[in-house]
Amino acid sequence: MGRLIAIANQKGGVGKTTTAVNLAVALAADHRKVLLVDLDPQGNASSGVIADTRLGELKSSGRTVYEAMVGDLPIADAIREARGDRLHLAPSGPALVGAEIELATREGRERALKRILDPIRDRYAFIIIDTPPSLGLLTLNSLVAADSVIVPMQCEYYALEGLTALLDTIRRVRAALNPKLEIEGLVLTMFDARNRLSHEIGREVQKHFPDKIFESVIPRSVRMSESPSHGLSVLEYDAKSAGAEAYRNLAAELIARVSGAGAKTGNGAEPAAGAARSWSLRALFARDRERSRR
Ligand code: ATP
Ligand code: MG
Repeated sequence: MGRLIAIANQKGGVGKTTTAVNLAVALAADHRKVLLVDLDPQGNASSGVIADTRLGELKSSGRTVYEAMVGDLPIADAIREARGDRLHLAPSGPALVGAEIELATREGRERALKRILDPIRDRYAFIIIDTPPSLGLLTLNSLVAADSVIVPMQCEYYALEGLTALLDTIRRVRAALNPKLEIEGLVLTMFDARNRLSHEIGREVQKHFPDKIFESVIPRSVRMSESPSHGLSVLEYDAKSAGAEAYRNLAAELIARVSGAGAKTGNGAEPAAGAARSWSLRALFARDRERSRR
């Protein structure tokens, strides 16, 4: 049975889609079969893995997550190959904007996504869901369908603000709708190693969530912000860049967590496989201490 992971944070622009796309591509590159589900009406995850030339047809095809969730399209008919048979995409389309309203009055409205994903779960090693920047019905659907949540945290002021609301929502979903929902981990995104604030936020998150923070840290990089406009992950756009390394590390760390090896990577524990490189919390904090001694 594949692991179903929602990438969620109701704050906008914190790196949810970038994480969903790059993690999906990194897992697929590691020979895992992956389904990327784009549950955001903005459709950025879809355009992040599909070239412009195919995108128009895809979004206007009437075969997207929307028709599967709200209508009766079999989800298999919405799924497309994004990188051959390794990475599949269930695309979003503009119609998904209406889904929250259309589902609102239906019975079982929180389970619409679970209903369509459950039957195909065993076809994938990982199903990664990109969610919109809100705690609305679409995000709720992803939390009800998922085994776990990855929370990208942008390294800026107020990074922790709003986390309480997300954790509360997760707690409520656990109590009422999906008792097995776990927090897979928090991942620091757009980390700028030269910026004091990035280190401060990193330490703060580590202090509060020592067993939940991923050792792999995602650096802020121009290559990362350029890659989506080419319909490519940063791993394909510039395989040697720091961002590509970071997302490969995150994928390796996730695989290790899920398979039980190096499950906890917080204080004192050995970093999980793949994380013991330059873009790890440990290495960044060590370099920062070194610098402040000088
Ligand atoms: P939304 O809430 O709107 O869905 P999001 O949380 O999905 O946003 P992204 O779209 O992944 O966030 O990222 C926001 C912007 O920041 C994008 O333009 C993206 O290319 C850029 N970005 C994301 N991660 C990085 C990074 N590590 N370095 C540089 N730019 C980044
Ligand atoms: Mg997004």
